[in-house]
Amino acid sequence: MSKLSFDRILQSQGFGTRKYCRELIDDGEVSINGEVLKSYKTAVETAGLVFTIFDEEWEYHEHLYIVLNKPANFECSRKPSHHPGVLTLLPEQFSWRDVQPVGRLDHDTTGMLLMSDDGPFIHAQSSPKRHIPKIYVATAAEPVTDELVQTLLAGVKLHDEPEPLAAKICRRLGENQLEIILEQGKYHQVKRMLAAAGNHCAALSRTAIGQLTLASLGLEEGEWCYLTPEHMALLV
Ligand code: URA
Repeated sequence: MSKLSFDRILQSQGFGTRKYCRELIDDGEVSINGEVLKSYKTAVETAGLVFTIFDEEWEYHEHLYIVLNKPANFECSRKPSHHPGVLTLLPEQFSWRDVQPVGRLDHDTTGMLLMSDDGPFIHAQSSPKRHIPKIYVATAAEPVTDELVQTLLAGVKLHDEPEPLAAKICRRLGENQLEIILEQGKYHQVKRMLAAAGNHCAALSRTAIGQLTLASLGLEEGEWCYLTPEHMALLV
């Protein structure tokens, strides 16, 4: 439990400088439970805090843990070069909190992307030691054969990788579609594995991380939500 003055709270949530946050409060733009906040000095309990700025409601989060259903043609890079960055899909104030993607999806890959401003969380989620499974659905340019599935399960040698990389699970979903579960997160891994196995990835989507599935979240492409403690427990 911790109490903070409201100007500090707004600043911590990325709404601007302390001076600007004080001005917002002085101008009567901030309310809690329908009551306009009278003074920026008001100290408030942050746990479970919900407040309104310019008629929009926000939850206080000491750290941000977010899941985004990433559309195609957005880049995960901090300095995107050819397409808008994924941060543009989140509320503007989150950018001021150093939110970053946990790992990366290619600009043309869609699906589940975690984002956070909590360094240790990002590090732990990305650690190769944890072997967190990532589930992808790939559309292949050529038909998905039993041989392709067996090759991906047996492992393929990729340029720059000392050991062959194998799918943990791989199964055919349709004529040109397969599900592949990986425990590593190498650069362009699915695309390069498919290419090394003699096919070509025409489209790719990440459908789950650990036990948390995108389908269970009900997010349209481009939509995001906060990860709850229950969601976080499934990221293993
Ligand atoms: N593998 C890829 O090839 N691309 C991604 O975006 C994710 C995994």
